[in-house]
Amino acid sequence: MRPVRFNIHPKEAVTASSVSMVEAPDGYSGEGFFTAKLSDVVGLARKNSIWPLPFATSCCGIEFMATAAAHYDLARFGAERMAFTPRQCDLLMVMGTISKKMGPVLRQVYLQMAEPRWVLAVGACASSGGIFDSYSVLQGIDQIIPVDVYVPGCPPRPEAILDGFMKIQDLVAHESIRRRNSSQYKALLETYGIE
Ligand code: SF4
Repeated sequence: MRPVRFNIHPKEAVTASSVSMVEAPDGYSGEGFFTAKLSDVVGLARKNSIWPLPFATSCCGIEFMATAAAHYDLARFGAERMAFTPRQCDLLMVMGTISKKMGPVLRQVYLQMAEPRWVLAVGACASSGGIFDSYSVLQGIDQIIPVDVYVPGCPPRPEAILDGFMKIQDLVAHESIRRRNSSQYKALLETYGIE
């Protein structure tokens, strides 16, 4: 019978040097207090707890799977909680070719997401239609919904997807909590026929 081995001398994990903390936002501190802008504190929390909705239709979706798997580990950014429930997510990641027939579905998913919401177009197809300059393919998702960050490539490597994700994090961290009520934002949505 195969012997059972027990690890009776476990090595202690050295966490002090391997765990990094997020930087505190700009502010003033003194004996027993710290003050900062509400937008900065909310941005810090949002930035490190993004819930992505992966809308993957083709090959770029496979690259995203690699991005979420152990080697590239999207969870390091606090974004391991994927969901396919638009009402719970705040980042729509569109990866793959979007046909014109699928456009209304994608738009409906976007509309079901609550504000604040961000959109990442991953790869050439989602950004511009890619190589499919044909009658049936949407030539970029920004024809139907606003996009915050575009990731180039066909397909983009996981590093590029992570880079795009970190750019979204920058936007999230520095966005004023009042931006979604601004007239500019409403005007942007109106150009897409969204109230
Ligand atoms: S950009 Fe390239 S890899 Fe990505 S979905 Fe389109 S054809 Fe596939």
